[in-house]
Amino acid sequence: MLIFNKLIYWIGDKPTEYELENVAYINDVEALPFGMGGMLCVNVQEPKQVEGILKAFYQQQKRWSWAVYTTIETPYSRCVTDGIFDLTTSYKAWQNLRSRLESVPLVASLDPLIGWLGINRSRRLTAMKSLESSSIYTYPLIEAFYPDIYSTYRYVLSEKARDILENEQLLDRIRVCSHCNSGHLNYVEVCPQCGSIDIEHQSSLHCFTCGHVGQQQSFQRRGKLECPKCLTQLRHIGVDYDRPLENHVCNQCLNLFVEAATMSQCLSCDESMKVDELVVRKLYRYRLGEAGEYIFRHGKPSLAPELSIKGEVEVSFFQNLLAWLNKVAIRHKEHHLLLGLHFPSLDEYGKQHGDAKLLSLMDQFTRRLSEIFRDTDICCQFKQDVLLVLMPNTEKSSFSALQNKISVLGGQIEDEDFELNVFSWTLPQAIEDGVAVWLETLVGDIYVTR
Ligand SMILES: [Zn+2]
Ligand SMILES: [Zn+2]
Ligand SMILES: [Zn+2]
Repeated sequence: MLIFNKLIYWIGDKPTEYELENVAYINDVEALPFGMGGMLCVNVQEPKQVEGILKAFYQQQKRWSWAVYTTIETPYSRCVTDGIFDLTTSYKAWQNLRSRLESVPLVASLDPLIGWLGINRSRRLTAMKSLESSSIYTYPLIEAFYPDIYSTYRYVLSEKARDILENEQLLDRIRVCSHCNSGHLNYVEVCPQCGSIDIEHQSSLHCFTCGHVGQQQSFQRRGKLECPKCLTQLRHIGVDYDRPLENHVCNQCLNLFVEAATMSQCLSCDESMKVDELVVRKLYRYRLGEAGEYIFRHGKPSLAPELSIKGEVEVSFFQNLLAWLNKVAIRHKEHHLLLGLHFPSLDEYGKQHGDAKLLSLMDQFTRRLSEIFRDTDICCQFKQDVLLVLMPNTEKSSFSALQNKISVLGGQIEDEDFELNVFSWTLPQAIEDGVAVWLETLVGDIYVTR
């Protein structure tokens, strides 16, 4: 697996100030050998070009296991490389990385993020500010490793929740639109009565004699102050007149007011909302967490999948088990039940209430589910919004009782937007094209039913 040669792969201009040994100059990342534990240095001066090369590099398999340097630092390179190339320290760091790689038993099957953070302890998962992105901050490394992920922020939160990652430092706190998650917002003062943005600052005066309140200008007469209503001369503030606190006026409804209300307007989707309706996001820099550390060393999650809903099992494991149980059912004329729980509004919920709230909702829900199911039932998060539960030796007839229990449970979740649909299938089934295809078809039907 580890590449044998000790060559430094160098893209871009050759270095001028020193002579490199054991170096291979290449023009394109396509020329890199496959295998793990190599070293790449990018020596181009144009930040966009650095970014392009690094992105292409990480599209290839197992590149997390490489030591990667650049000769200029860019906001992007800071998030996905080991820093600026230095003849002695970079070479040494690379050797350390290689020896770590050799000492990890199941290195080839490691998750890229865990592997990347694990083989070099100075690496951190960092957010990058990018005005081109509607969410303003992204995690470039997550984008590079998992290009299909819809929200890198949400992904990072869930890895944090599993202790794969651990907070190191809070980098920023931003507010995003509760409709579309955009961070491009405009804050605008509006009339507290009618909501119009057409408001102005106005200095007005208040005549004590007749109570008239009006613009300061309308009191100006021949260089003196005189009430336009009762024509009293106003000499002393506090005695003849004062300034009202309401020093704003709305040009729409003519309301006078002390303090304008603030609304936030989303520049991406045009929705406007109150500032306290915005969703707060905290952007952290992360290091490898305790569970991540364990997986890095042992290649497996620290909790070997328990055969109970309390500990979910992975998809591949679930599939194998299902295939086996199906055969058992045919041979011994047994009946098993497969449940599908679909949360159709999950994605919408995340957008509305924020990802942190979504995670806590899911957490709350799974905890209650484990009270319903038996220790022998096996649960698997098959898709982001589909949970499958395998219930051995359960007849179809018990489905309605179960469905009741689950809908009671759904009702206990204190949230109106939360929606849950329950599906069921019996085993045995004729599974001809393999269990993976069969399951995909089932779940496909769930989406169609919606
Ligand atoms: Zn108004
Ligand atoms: Zn007056
Ligand atoms: Zn928006």
